[in-house]
Amino acid sequence: MWQADKNRYDSMTYQRCGNSGLQLPAVSLGLWHNFGDDALDQTKLAICRRAFDLGITHFDLANNYGPPPGSAEAAFGRILKQGLSGYRDELIISSKAGYDMWPGPYGEWGSRKYLIASCDQSLKRMGLDYVDIFYSHRFDPNTPLEETMMALDHIVRSGRALYVGISSYNTQRTREAVAILQELKTPCLIHQPSYSMINRWIEDDGLLDTLEDLGIGAIVFSPLAQGMLTDKYLNGIPDNSRAMQGKSLNKDFLNDKNLANIRALHDIAQQRNQSLAQMAIAWVLRDPRVTSALIGASSVSQLENSVAALANRDFSDAELNEIDQYAKDADINIWAASIEK
Ligand code: NDP
Repeated sequence: MWQADKNRYDSMTYQRCGNSGLQLPAVSLGLWHNFGDDALDQTKLAICRRAFDLGITHFDLANNYGPPPGSAEAAFGRILKQGLSGYRDELIISSKAGYDMWPGPYGEWGSRKYLIASCDQSLKRMGLDYVDIFYSHRFDPNTPLEETMMALDHIVRSGRALYVGISSYNTQRTREAVAILQELKTPCLIHQPSYSMINRWIEDDGLLDTLEDLGIGAIVFSPLAQGMLTDKYLNGIPDNSRAMQGKSLNKDFLNDKNLANIRALHDIAQQRNQSLAQMAIAWVLRDPRVTSALIGASSVSQLENSVAALANRDFSDAELNEIDQYAKDADINIWAASIEK
């Protein structure tokens, strides 16, 4: 049976999630892309094992991750069975429901019917008794927020999850959701918004201030802007890239204006002896209110490169000012619909 590296806790940093008792690794791994049936099982296994060996205790999933939807959770279930499940008490595994998952009126959004059924399906696919965190994946303007939050509360009370979180809720909806959860005595552990040097909506919305005020942690997703904030697209669009797959990274995002800023940021990263990916991760973590940077990786080498960001997390004021000149909103927030409600 596979054994994890004995030194796995030596170099990772763990940060407290808001005012809770839970600590999360500064870098967490998400399985949105690269873990569907279109990717090799061997690569998925190698990435997850290496992540755990590097001290990444948190793996983030959702019902719809694939393709096809559900296949990433099924793949993670197989990975668990190949050794990682022996470390279940050292793992924080999350899942979510909110986006389109199955046909008909009960297969998406925020009803009690959907959330509880979807959580049961996720547990079955992963072969788990419980997930550590279960999220409402997006705000639903047509379901009473009480219903969605009461479903999350039920999911915890019935033993399906240990904690709950919300994803892509704006400040106002976050305050409303958190107040309901407080009343139910199932506190909101964590918020999962998108955030990167070229997608800074949580600063404008005041979400980070709100989370600090409420004592809730933030795990920020797509800190590499789906790969835009790496050296991947500096010289065109490679065949083996997310932009070429025609999924969530629209090629139009890689326009001249955005690429000019990305190239300038790349130069700043080089002055810091970091890859652009490393600087992008260190940059989201510069704010102590960010508990964890939630990254994706299509290979072990990408993962290793990204985790090495933690070797240099400090920025001088001059560096931050220089970064601000180019860290401009690139109009890439494809999750904006959820926060505009
Ligand atoms: P990132 O911004 O980290 O993008 C990951 C991609 O960047 C990789 O697939 C790879 O692209 C490229 N990459 C990663 N590391 C490197 C590196 N060191 N050097 C060069 N290129 C690199 O995050 P994701 O967009 O993948 O999202 C991360 C996680 O966040 C998801 O898996 C999911 O768990 C969560 N998420 C949550 C959402 C929500 O609504 N709550 C929405 C979206 C994501 P390539 O594949 O082209 O090689």
